[in-house]
Amino acid sequence: MTLWQQQMVGLIAPAVERSIATQEVVIGAGTLGLAGEVAARVTPLRRALVMADSAGFAAAGRQVLDALSGAGFQTTSAVIPNAPLPEAAVTEAEPFRAALAADPELFPVSVGSGVINDLVKWAAFRNDRRYLTVATAASMDGYTSAGAALAQDGFKVTIPARAPVAMLADLDVIATAPAEMNGWGYGDLAGKVSAGGDWLLADAMGVGPLDDVAWRLVQDHLRGWLAGPEGIAAGRTESVARLLVGLTAVGFAMEFHGSSRPASGADHQIAHMWEMEGLSFNGQKVSHGAAVGVGCVASLALFDWLLAQDLSALDTEDVLSRSPDLDARLTSLRTAVPDARVAVRAEEELRAKSIDRGTHRERLERLRVAWPELKSRLGTHLLRTEEMAGMLARAGCPAYACQIGVTPDHLLRTLRAAAYIRRRYTIFDLLHDAGLTEVAFSAVLPKLGLPATEAAE
Ligand SMILES: [Zn+2]
Repeated sequence: MTLWQQQMVGLIAPAVERSIATQEVVIGAGTLGLAGEVAARVTPLRRALVMADSAGFAAAGRQVLDALSGAGFQTTSAVIPNAPLPEAAVTEAEPFRAALAADPELFPVSVGSGVINDLVKWAAFRNDRRYLTVATAASMDGYTSAGAALAQDGFKVTIPARAPVAMLADLDVIATAPAEMNGWGYGDLAGKVSAGGDWLLADAMGVGPLDDVAWRLVQDHLRGWLAGPEGIAAGRTESVARLLVGLTAVGFAMEFHGSSRPASGADHQIAHMWEMEGLSFNGQKVSHGAAVGVGCVASLALFDWLLAQDLSALDTEDVLSRSPDLDARLTSLRTAVPDARVAVRAEEELRAKSIDRGTHRERLERLRVAWPELKSRLGTHLLRTEEMAGMLARAGCPAYACQIGVTPDHLLRTLRAAAYIRRRYTIFDLLHDAGLTEVAFSAVLPKLGLPATEAAE
């Protein structure tokens, strides 16, 4: 048995067992024809609505409809266009919600990748309906997760919903997905390296303890899933299978932890800023995974810089005396986040994570004491910036801001804004606590504008 097949047995099957929502995960070559019998096992309903975007439908829609009919389902389909790409927003999911609401006997089936999966997840959840997701690309980690990553009033959030009752992925379909899409999935998975670093920081600072189950499900296997990135670009079945198993495991980790903490840190905050801006490059909306890949490299650069500092020598009283109060931070936030709809929500997040002076002093003391061990833990856990950038490049995923049309100025604005948009403790918060935000940003920016080889010239 190959690694991914072993992990289907040793990792995914126990996760399905533990999941309160998901009863089946089928990953394998030539499995599309099983969609009908899988659906029949997990729902008593016998009418199915296949929801897809046009690319997902072209890849697998017809076969899924045939499989459902073959298993005794009456089928209808709703296909949304791919050009322009559907927006990951609640408004876009509303027609699906309404279609399901109009017929309580309709079993929802999502056929496609990131956006359509989240739209159907949200629409199904709003109707308290279980659903089947048929994955057509290994492009992100949300197939098995309980949250729908959608914009609400222009603010990207993970809306609590429910994981699918079943997930099916035909590796023959996944391997022939556009190589860039599987590259995006690699970027989304790469983000777990820096997100894990954020979690280690939160754990050490006493604001977000590690959860052994979710941590191990992702972090014990992450290096293996990220090995051999060339295979992703080449569409090798073995490589995309391993990637997909990794993304599937991450989805479960989020369900088990009850939040996206196991999957998302500063890397995703950076990516979410660009997603909320509707960032486009070469006439195409920049995908979630591509944005996460670049966010991950930016975050790792901040970590690399941090690891070169001696935080046990921090002068607590000096840091406290220079630290901006909440009002000053709110003013900075309004400058950093010009979109009023985003700023309003970011203000809520900033207020929620704002601490008084006494707590700030305690945190700094804790950091000074914890630093030697924390530094060594981070050093072992993290990959170096250039190493990760090289792996992303080989997988066909952008790694540097310029590769998605983000200038150094724009990147600096993004870093400043991203620090505010989520209360979750990340390297942004540690830099703030230590009074090092701007010095860290200035230090890493020259490294992040261009790929290392070009920057060195
Ligand atoms: Zn993601």
